[in-house]
Amino acid sequence: MYKVTVDKKKCIGCGTCVAVCSEVFEMDGDKAKPKTPKTDKECAVEAEGSCPVQAIKVTPAK
Ligand code: SF4
Repeated sequence: MYKVTVDKKKCIGCGTCVAVCSEVFEMDGDKAKPKTPKTDKECAVEAEGSCPVQAIKVTPAK
């Protein structure tokens, strides 16, 4: 499992994380947010690497 967070202060609302991993991320107005605080979807890691402003943190969790 992974713990997923989006730093809303950093997020520029580009939508890349939703495009890469819609199972885990969704738009909330002009910012992204995790649909759930924890996930087992590997695409969350891909989204972390795809965010242009490093707003996403994906860390191993139980
Ligand atoms: S990829 Fe990063 S900047 Fe773009 S919407 Fe997602 S969290 Fe925000």
